[in-house]
Amino acid sequence: MGLGFDPASVTLPCGHFIGGRLVPAAGEIDLHRPSDGAAFAACPIAGPDMVDAAVESARKALKDSGWGGTRPRDRVRALHRWADLMEAHAEELGRLEAVASTRPIRDLMAGDLPVTIEQIRFFAEFADKEGGDLVPTADDSLGLIMTEPYGVVGAITPWNFPLSMAAWKLAPALAAGNAVVLKPSEMTPFATLRMAELSVEAGIPAGLVNIVLGDGAITGNALTGHPHVSKVSFTGSTAAGAAIMANIARTGIKPMTLELGGKSPQVVFADADLGLAASCIATSILANAGQACVAGTRLIAAREIAEPLLEKIAARLACIRPGPTWETETAYAPIISERQIGRIESLVGAALSAGAQLRAGGRRLERPGFFYAPTILDHVAPGSPAVIEEIFGPVLTTQTFSDEAEAVALADHPSYGLCAGLYTRDLSRAVRVTRQLQAGTIWVNRYGRSRDHILPTGGYKGSGIGKDLGREAFMANRKAKSVLIGL
Ligand code: NAD
Repeated sequence: MGLGFDPASVTLPCGHFIGGRLVPAAGEIDLHRPSDGAAFAACPIAGPDMVDAAVESARKALKDSGWGGTRPRDRVRALHRWADLMEAHAEELGRLEAVASTRPIRDLMAGDLPVTIEQIRFFAEFADKEGGDLVPTADDSLGLIMTEPYGVVGAITPWNFPLSMAAWKLAPALAAGNAVVLKPSEMTPFATLRMAELSVEAGIPAGLVNIVLGDGAITGNALTGHPHVSKVSFTGSTAAGAAIMANIARTGIKPMTLELGGKSPQVVFADADLGLAASCIATSILANAGQACVAGTRLIAAREIAEPLLEKIAARLACIRPGPTWETETAYAPIISERQIGRIESLVGAALSAGAQLRAGGRRLERPGFFYAPTILDHVAPGSPAVIEEIFGPVLTTQTFSDEAEAVALADHPSYGLCAGLYTRDLSRAVRVTRQLQAGTIWVNRYGRSRDHILPTGGYKGSGIGKDLGREAFMANRKAKSVLIGL
């Protein structure tokens, strides 16, 4: 039996989720389905008053429930029950997500949902393991480092992997004893709303998870600048991250975690397993049609193997199965919007005008919706926008090197440092180059996130501040207090 479904059969929740209930609101931002371009829904915009109501609900829930206090094992149980309910409602959540987003239903059911649920369970298990530290002191005192939840965490997520991004924010914050007000992307808010409803059904006290819908300029701004939001956790573009930093600087200093954009290099040495490298690189371009922060979009290949490697990558990129996200067989995602297709077209066009060679794709797919062919740009001039800017589409640029130092220099991006891929059979070189690459995650002879939630993820340079996932993400949701007790 297939996973496919009729998108008209899916009822989308519309409103904000405050104090454990859906507060209906009129849609203001028109949304078009990426799969076929049809207008299908509108997203409301929470103004400052609605954001204030959500933050107040979070504060009240923290106070009334004692969530951040003395019963951490209760948090473990409640989060596991939430994960259980998400499992029971996986098909419903998958359908909500597939209708609005670029995620094919098959990928959602096999990947996004199980991963999201695992992430909740992963953080649940931290909730009762943090006990602070007893430390030696210079005199006869008792020295303690205690950690405490922040209170209300303001979280903001992007549209590209909505469920998983929501779990990255909600799960560690709740496990660490906080309440959350989350603003999902205005383009893909629906499954996140249902996820929040399920948290209450699972017994997480109403008001600890609040969702406000809206854009960045009004809702996002009100949330990050709210005086009772004690910490901000953001995933999105570097430009929006900079705007959030500026808003926080204006409205009151508070800690923030920023997971931002990337333009990650894939460095292939002449001794690499070219079949493996080609497969990893192509998969990274095809996954969500390149609309992933970690997409390895800059191929940097040893000159002598560049040609056979490109042939292998191009062959792999030719095998795509585009289609509506609600059809079982679809294995190639649409682009999120007409506007984003325009941006891809303009950056590819500019690279070609500047002398780059088109090795594959370079065009929109002739079918309903917003689809763009996997594209390879060869001989792209260093410094051209196609190798500098995050395109957020299925576009691979190619540059070649003649020695290790040149490879490292080309890999180094002036402002991004999220991830890097490295392919070689020489272990010494792998370690040497890994040490030189300026990125928060390095994959050697493989590429892409797996289910290793224990590995913290986050960028160097303009790709971010702080880490999601790992123990770091849990600890980033608690603040340290030093205590000295004179004896
Ligand atoms: P975006 O920055 O346009 O929007 C992300 C979120 O921020 C949305 O909810 C948006 O409404 C909100 N926002 C925008 N401006 C804001 C402001 N001034 N104040 C508060 N909120 C604001 O990004 P997007 O198009 O949704 O997502 C794609 C981007 O996200 C890419 O750059 C991608 O690399 C990045 N991303 C990074 C990671 C990571 O882990 N580093 C993961 C996924 C996506």
